[in-house]
Parts: sequence; C-alpha cells; structure tokens
Amino acid sequence: MAAMPRPFNFSPGPAALPEPVLRQAASEMLDWNGTGLSVMEVSHRGKEFMALQAGIEADLRELLAVPANYKVLFLQGGAIGQNAIVPMNLLRGRKSADYVDTGAWSTRSIAAAAHYCRVNVAASGKAGGFTSIPKPSEWRLDSEAAYVHICANETIGGVEYHWVPDTGAVPLVADMSSNILSRPIDVSRYGLIYAGAQKNIGPAGLTLVIVDERLLGGALPTTPSAFDYTIQAANNSMINTPPTYAIYLAGLVFRWLDDQGGLAAVGERNRAKAALLYGCIDGSGGFYRNDIAPADRSLMNVPFHLPDPALDAEFLDGAKAADLLQLKGHRIVGGMRASIYNAMPLEGVRALVAYMVHFATRRG
Ligand code: PMP
Repeated sequence: MAAMPRPFNFSPGPAALPEPVLRQAASEMLDWNGTGLSVMEVSHRGKEFMALQAGIEADLRELLAVPANYKVLFLQGGAIGQNAIVPMNLLRGRKSADYVDTGAWSTRSIAAAAHYCRVNVAASGKAGGFTSIPKPSEWRLDSEAAYVHICANETIGGVEYHWVPDTGAVPLVADMSSNILSRPIDVSRYGLIYAGAQKNIGPAGLTLVIVDERLLGGALPTTPSAFDYTIQAANNSMINTPPTYAIYLAGLVFRWLDDQGGLAAVGERNRAKAALLYGCIDGSGGFYRNDIAPADRSLMNVPFHLPDPALDAEFLDGAKAADLLQLKGHRIVGGMRASIYNAMPLEGVRALVAYMVHFATRRG
C-alpha cells in the first residue's frame, strides 16, 4: 500500500523526525534485532543494548568528527537541566563564569547559573531587542572565568552564531540544542557542547553532552551522580537507566544523516532551505518581515511577521489547510516561526514559500 504523504511540520521542538527513521522504528517496534522484544523492553545492561549504544556513539563521533579526548554522554534533564549541571561540573573551584546574552534561552541559562556562581554577562544583545549577536569587540571577557557560555542558536528569537568565539584559554560552552548536527563544526574549539535531543537528534528525553575530558574531575561535591559528568563518563552514561528508546531513535537519525551525505551535505541543504525562505520574506515588498541582522539570521528557526497581527489567524488556518503545520511564533515574539531543521526537506520549504506568496498576493 502506498504511504500517505505526511504534512510538513515546522515545529520548533519536539520537531519533525525524518520519515525513514519513523518507518524503521515502526517496523522494529515489536521485534528489535531478532530479540522478539521492543528495544524499549530490554535491559540497558544487556549485551544487545550495550552494543547498540556503543555503535551509536561511534556513529556520532564520526558524523561530528568528535576528537578522541572528548567524552560523549547520553543524559536526561534537557537543556534546562544543563543550565545548572554545567556550573555544578565546570566551576572547578572558580568563582565566576562569563555568559553572552543573545535572547530567551541564554537569559534562562544566566538566571540558572547565578545560583552557583557570580555571572558576568560579557555581552548582551538585549538593548537591540536581541536582533543580532554582539560583535566580539564588545565582549568583556574575564580571564579568570571558569568558562564562557553561549547559546549557539536562539530557537525563539532566531539569531545564530555563524562563527566560533575565541575565548583564549577559557573553555567555551555552547547550548546547541537547536542547531547541533545542522552542519560540520570544529568540536575542538569548544570545551563542552550540550543539546536537548528534540530538534535535530531525536525524541525528547535524551540530552547529549560532548565534553573535553580535561574539564572533568572537579564537580561540586553536592552534584547528583546522574548529573556528574565524570561519573557518567566512567560508566558509559549508565550510572542510572539511560533513556534507551530515545538513544535508539537518535542512532537511527545518525544513520540517516550519514545516508544524506554527512554534515557537509546536510549543511549545504540547510543553507539552501534558509536562503529560499529568507528570500521570500525579503522579496515580499515589505509584506513579511524578519527583524534579525542578516549576518546573524538563524538557518534553523525563521521568525517572521505579517503586516498586521490581525492576519495571523487566517494565515495559520490557510497553512494548516495546505498541510503546513505548527507555524505559530513563540508568544514572546509573536507572528510566525518556521523551524526548518534537518528533517525538513527542501520541498517543505518550497511549499511554505508558495503558500506565503499566494497569501501575500491575496492580502497584500
Ligand atoms: N536551549 C535552547 C536553545 C532551546 O531551544 C531549548 C528548548 N526549546 C532549551 C534550551 C530548553 O530545552 P529543554 O526543554 O530540553 O530543557
């Protein structure tokens, strides 16, 4: 039987997963790997699951070119959990950390870290309405800071770093929840990368941490063992039961990314998708508007406004009727937001652009 075409899902997260991944997971739901059981039903300490997780870690290391001196951890608690877990683990006796404020998610990271240390906001885009990433010349970094924290892509506001900050000897920590695996990166430029899985990795419930092992060993004594990077690294992320199904699904996504040609090819496709959508917005004669400085525009999350918020509901209803789902913007920004992560095909962006052109012609 021919598969029904699925709608195009522009959700910011939990986000669309690649259709072949969902189909494979469905086909293996009742009998995984010849066990007669679902992968959800087997022991995380059994040899089948241990081998699966080791293979998934190896695949991720290859995809992202993770250097050998970095640990890959499969944790829980989301990126919000990491907001506290990072200072617990990385202060290493220091009293302060530098944070760069680029929008809603970095603001939350700053508030959480302030419970653990003195936070120096080294630069902030707040005065400009978070429409650009502060220029490196404006950053006031502290050489005594335990680390410098950035949010690599602000999922709500739609600004993204297209360069890697130079923080000298101070480790750079990045929340990559919404742009990890969207293109190749040089992992060695970061001390630690973390990401909730539910955008570009897999389903919610898994939090990925990639950490330079030279930063381990200094967690606060009160750190829960499940959140102590050193303990988890020494125990294959199995100090407690890991989120086994989410890890399995992430493994299918990693394989799919490899089938797509790896991150260089995926990055090219993401650039083309974003160019098409921003081109539509910029070429709409002012009907659609995106306020972000062009050099800092996110390739993953594209917020845009219609000329009058009174048109929003009609726009969304028409989009839904055209099988273009979950385009409503975040309440703190308003308007629309199209999230175009790896699993969004170019055809999905083409369909959205065709709808936007049609809507603007009718209402413009
Ligand atoms: N940081 C960023 C950049 C995010 O996009 C999100 C979720 N949308 C979070 C942090 C919070 O992640 P979680 O809900 O997994 O804790």
